[in-house]
Amino acid sequence: MTKDLFDIGEIPEIGTVPARMHAQLVRPERFGEPRDSIKDEVIDVPEIGPNEALVMVMAAGVNFNNVWAARGVPVDVTKTQARWGEPTDFHIVGSDAAGIVYSVGRDVKNVNVGDRVVVHAGQWDVDDPWVVAGKDPGLAASFRVWGYDTCWGSFAQFTKVQAHQCLPKAEHLTWEEAAAPTLTGGTAYRMLHGWPPNTVSDGDVVLVWGGSGGLGSMAIQLVTLAGGRAVAVVSSDEKGEYSKRLGAVGYVNRTRFDHWGVPPAWNDPAWKEWFEGAKAFGKAVWEALGERTSPRIVFEHPAQDTIPTSNFVCDRGGMVVICAGTTGYDTMIDVRYLWYLQKRYQGSHLFNDEQAAAFNDLVRDRKVSTTLGATYVYDETGAVHQMMGGGELPEGNVAVLVNAPARGLTD
Ligand code: NAP
Repeated sequence: MTKDLFDIGEIPEIGTVPARMHAQLVRPERFGEPRDSIKDEVIDVPEIGPNEALVMVMAAGVNFNNVWAARGVPVDVTKTQARWGEPTDFHIVGSDAAGIVYSVGRDVKNVNVGDRVVVHAGQWDVDDPWVVAGKDPGLAASFRVWGYDTCWGSFAQFTKVQAHQCLPKAEHLTWEEAAAPTLTGGTAYRMLHGWPPNTVSDGDVVLVWGGSGGLGSMAIQLVTLAGGRAVAVVSSDEKGEYSKRLGAVGYVNRTRFDHWGVPPAWNDPAWKEWFEGAKAFGKAVWEALGERTSPRIVFEHPAQDTIPTSNFVCDRGGMVVICAGTTGYDTMIDVRYLWYLQKRYQGSHLFNDEQAAAFNDLVRDRKVSTTLGATYVYDETGAVHQMMGGGELPEGNVAVLVNAPARGLTD
């Protein structure tokens, strides 16, 4: 008889699904610091629908969206997921996973029970008229992020996903390596390749904020692969050297500058001081590059501290592309720089199936390193997200073993 519940690290026979599972949950009544907010509980394994798959999670990737979910900022994730038809009073964090398919819905054709997969985080309604018309699902009204906008994330023994989210796992990678890069890598892929004509190509200079972080470490590699030249921005020389090992041609240590945040108004005498800081930063980018060429693309995510500077240093006809507001949302664009030099200010969010698959193929072809910086165990889930929220994690991406019984296993 099938056991009702398995311990973490105890793997049921493939295709055997227990009734209950361990999962790392947040609940609205304990929103706050991730170490207190994200907790292991035992809950029922979810039922899957006709287009869905149930994946046994071997390892899960750590992303900043779980920190936001734990804090309940800027939204209460249980309210968002209720709007998508999941009215649970808890939320399972996690938008990156590597694991094994344990069951599939009756209409699923792309994966089978037993397949080793990574899961990308893009979800949408398959019958959304926008999607049915063949348009970019990343822009569909039903687009949502699995494990952030939806309930059944990856920090659980089993996760419920739409089958199209499953991509083949790179055979050469361990479970923890495979779980690490898809969300950040796919997001960086869309930011750099998804917004023509401002796509990265041969010789382009790309300024990458947070060059040693999850997104930045992926962006540097993708820029380099496309023949571009990445200049990283980092907060220490160690992180700068790390960025160079990933392919950056140089780096700027942002701690040498102090003009961050929203500048004073253009007609305030104090504006001049901000302007001198921004000019000195632009000069430092040229120095890191070794020539006076400004970035064709500025790869943005810190936002409030950095957007005015990004807008200033971006080249004529170039693009500032942004996917987050880690340091705050209240920023400003001095439109003089935007219109006069005909720059583009572009939002970007996650990716679609093609972009996720294109990124995963680069990983499978060993062209992109997963930049796994550290691996933690299931019981450290709250603590590792606490470290991420405090900027205390090592360089690169970070993963947590969920059901994989040990580090270093590929199958
Ligand atoms: P991460 O690994 O923590 O990296 C963030 C980087 O930002 C750090 O390496 C840090 O580098 C840099 N940073 C921190 N404070 C800064 C400041 N004041 N000024 C300039 N840089 C600063 O996080 P991540 O995984 O790269 O994610 C970054 C953000 O993107 C998060 O908010 C996340 O939620 C979001 N995100 C959004 C999407 C999407 O699709 N919308 C997808 C993935 C991630 P230094 O300290 O070395 O400068």
